[in-house]
Amino acid sequence: MHELTIAEMARGLREKRFSSVELTQGFLDRIAALDGQYNSFITVCAEQALAEAAAADAALAAGDAGALAGIPIAHKDIFCTDGVRTSCASKMLDNFVPPYDATVVTRLKQAGTVMLGKTNMDEFAMGSSNETSFYGAVRNPWDRERVPGGSSGGSAAAVAARLAPAATGTDTGGSIRQPAALCGITGLKPTYGRVSRLGMIAFASSLDQGGPMARSAQDCALLMNSMAGFDPLDSTSAQREVPDYSAGLAQSLEGLRIGLPREYFGAGLDPDTAKAIHAALAELEKLGATLVDISLAHSDLAIPTYYVIAPAEASTNLSRYDGVRYGYRCEDPADLLDLYTRSRGEGFGDEVNRRILVGTYALSAGYYDAYYKKAQQARRLIKQGFDACFEQVDVIAGPTTPGPAFGLGAKKDDPVAMYLEDVYTLAVNLAGLPAMSIPAGLADNCPVGLQLIGRHFDEARLLNIAHRFQSATDWHQLTPPGGAA
Ligand code: GLN
Repeated sequence: MHELTIAEMARGLREKRFSSVELTQGFLDRIAALDGQYNSFITVCAEQALAEAAAADAALAAGDAGALAGIPIAHKDIFCTDGVRTSCASKMLDNFVPPYDATVVTRLKQAGTVMLGKTNMDEFAMGSSNETSFYGAVRNPWDRERVPGGSSGGSAAAVAARLAPAATGTDTGGSIRQPAALCGITGLKPTYGRVSRLGMIAFASSLDQGGPMARSAQDCALLMNSMAGFDPLDSTSAQREVPDYSAGLAQSLEGLRIGLPREYFGAGLDPDTAKAIHAALAELEKLGATLVDISLAHSDLAIPTYYVIAPAEASTNLSRYDGVRYGYRCEDPADLLDLYTRSRGEGFGDEVNRRILVGTYALSAGYYDAYYKKAQQARRLIKQGFDACFEQVDVIAGPTTPGPAFGLGAKKDDPVAMYLEDVYTLAVNLAGLPAMSIPAGLADNCPVGLQLIGRHFDEARLLNIAHRFQSATDWHQLTPPGGAA
């Protein structure tokens, strides 16, 4: 049963071929048997999941079930879950049990999903390898000596290893797309404001966006139908109608113009990854699309701009963890200042501390104009670069990452090498655009992700292209060797 897609599971449940309790138990058994190898979950909610599954079965029998009734999913441990520990993979929140659900969690609950548990991630979503987690690194199901990507590495690994049919993720600079690429699954980072950020622990508020991670575009569309939409409790949430993301999946790609930015195919791109991407693009051409060479102006500014803005916002967001209100508190503080310094010093890991230092520096009175203000100006240029491309083409395509999954520990002590991993994903967040990563081949026996970037609120188009590609190819069907045993 664990090989079924969400769409197939939903059909099976409605046709009473199996119950949600059976389905849920099946995944819980797999997690218990296999997750020791991957460390993709921080918390497993077996009892609660079975109770939710029984309720879903009752609703299905009564005929008043939601669209995703009885479908087990996992949530990244950055989404607040009422009564269930939400750690953000930090010692700081190791003891934090939220009194409410994030809007994403509420909506997926209302649709009838069953929560299997909370997935591992980089601490406070800062990282590209899932090695900064307080709960230990996650391993890539394709090769356990490699990283799954980050920061939503637990969600990606769990879906790839068939420990959950789908999971939520968040993407501030690539954290849905990059792990999706490295684990061979499908991930969608929606337009900024499309999915509510309420109850999603803040990293960089002007960049953070939640989205679905699953095995296919069709499944991502089903999840988006529930996740997307206006939330009066999130002031940056977009007041725009939500289309039926499943309705347009099969549309023809005839006449579609796909832009290939030369900046995404230059030096630094692994040759085997490039080969897989070109083959995938040729497939899209066969499906009716026209490939257009374009230039994405200012894409070289993405890394420096992001690594000023994201730490700046992080440093202010993380000031709330002070050892007083909630979260970790040091032992026997001598006075208030000692309480603050030691609680924060002991509660945050190295990467989080590094971001706070960089961010505080960039925002300080003497350097604000030189760094933060400059970065805001560069951000505008990056957005204008995309605007110019979208006058010529409908979507932009290229690799999601410069290469396949790298070895555990390979970049851990070299922050700059780690930051370069995001070279193709960051600009999208700075411009607030939607983007996807879909499995598009193998390099070095590990998955390669094709990235599709769309105009604001054009998620339906991205899902359509991804679905057509997945109807014509089977890269998304590949199972990690031994991983889905
Ligand atoms: N890897 C990037 C960072 O470390 C992006 C993380 C994310 O999208 N949450 O900031």
